[in-house]
Amino acid sequence: MTAPAARIGVTFKTLGCKVNQVESEDIAAELLGRGAQLVSEADAAVVIVNTCTVTGEADAKARKAVRHAIKGPGSPIVVVTGCLAAIDAEGLAALGDRVVVEADKGLIAPRVAELLGVAADQIAVPPRVGNGFRTRAQLKIEDGCDAYCTYCIVPYARGVPRSTPLDEILAETERLVEAGAREIVLTGINVGRYRDEARSGPGAADLAAVIEAVAATGVERLRLSSVEPLDLSERLLAVLSATPAFCEHLHVPLQSADDEVLCAMGRGYTAEQYAERIAAAREALPGVAVTTDVIAGFPGETDAQADATLHFCDEIGFARLHVFRFSSRVGTPAGSMRAVDPHVRAGRAAALRALDRRLRQRHAESRLGQTADVLVERVSVAEGARLVQGTTRDYLQVRAGDASSSVGEILTVRLERYRDGIVEGVAEQPEAPVFRDTPEQGKHVPRW
Ligand code: SF4
Repeated sequence: MTAPAARIGVTFKTLGCKVNQVESEDIAAELLGRGAQLVSEADAAVVIVNTCTVTGEADAKARKAVRHAIKGPGSPIVVVTGCLAAIDAEGLAALGDRVVVEADKGLIAPRVAELLGVAADQIAVPPRVGNGFRTRAQLKIEDGCDAYCTYCIVPYARGVPRSTPLDEILAETERLVEAGAREIVLTGINVGRYRDEARSGPGAADLAAVIEAVAATGVERLRLSSVEPLDLSERLLAVLSATPAFCEHLHVPLQSADDEVLCAMGRGYTAEQYAERIAAAREALPGVAVTTDVIAGFPGETDAQADATLHFCDEIGFARLHVFRFSSRVGTPAGSMRAVDPHVRAGRAAALRALDRRLRQRHAESRLGQTADVLVERVSVAEGARLVQGTTRDYLQVRAGDASSSVGEILTVRLERYRDGIVEGVAEQPEAPVFRDTPEQGKHVPRW
């Protein structure tokens, strides 16, 4: 006899990039459709570890997560997937008897059902909105990359680009919107490589076409997880500019602003070309917040080159930097290049992170006194006051006192103060009743 499906407690440990986050959500949705429950690690019969292998450090973290999961109180089965599973299945399987390695994410849900002796029929995959899923719904449109940047293992782990057919993207968008999603983030490893080969005609099936088609479904807010600088073509920018739902935020990886280092990284553009694309994006999308990734201490990077990158980031005026200290990855060309001294790498990363704090503050302070639409992602109560927190169209994290908004609502907030990485403000939505110091209601909403 098979166990009742509802008794399967599953939990996830997701490491690495946004694509891994989306893929974990997809697996979770399918498992829910098979009757599983999302539970805490303490109650889990199955722990799914979705690994990353972007650096040697990421590998170590993934192995640590597997070892930790094996020791879980319920002696869970640990299913390991993701990029490290694709390139080191044997090494991961050797970590324990209850470790099952499955690199193909499409097979995880049936594999878990099989492992637990659960019937595979009656699958109704719920949309990935609410119930433990994120409010800003991520939708994967592309997987894989063939850019072969010299520091990156992703093309080897995930293979060449594959795109989700546009019809499937639209069907999933409609399901998400119907289930209450107000914002969709189109995600992929390298979304600029998107092509729906089944469609013909110039530009009929590229990233710009996806954005036009998804926006036409009526979704209120639309965002791209990341886009490479040279993919910010005039055509794409024209579509973004003509799409009111598209949020004023672009994440455009820079990695370095020194041409010699960029060339050694195999990035395919110069600092000048990067700056020119950002200028074009700012013209097309006034007020756009640009965030980026930077690698500190790539092999061969000199002090002067590191300083040039720091200066460039300041000049461009990014809204946020994601700083990665270079960590050698065996199997990539950069893995065999002569490394920069680890202390020097750490010092450069620290300087970039200090700049990141200043840039975030500058971006936030430039918006104070204005209003912004905030998609509420969290509601909490502190000292009797109800607080909501969420993200603006230009990617600021905002917290405001508000008596009635719920997760998933879009609230207009006057931005008043920047503190510890968050903009604090006051809810200004006339239709939502806001109570300030009204003892008869027993509610107090603070002002900052
Ligand atoms: S564009 Fe470069 S860094 Fe990004 S996934 Fe492809 S190879 Fe890796």
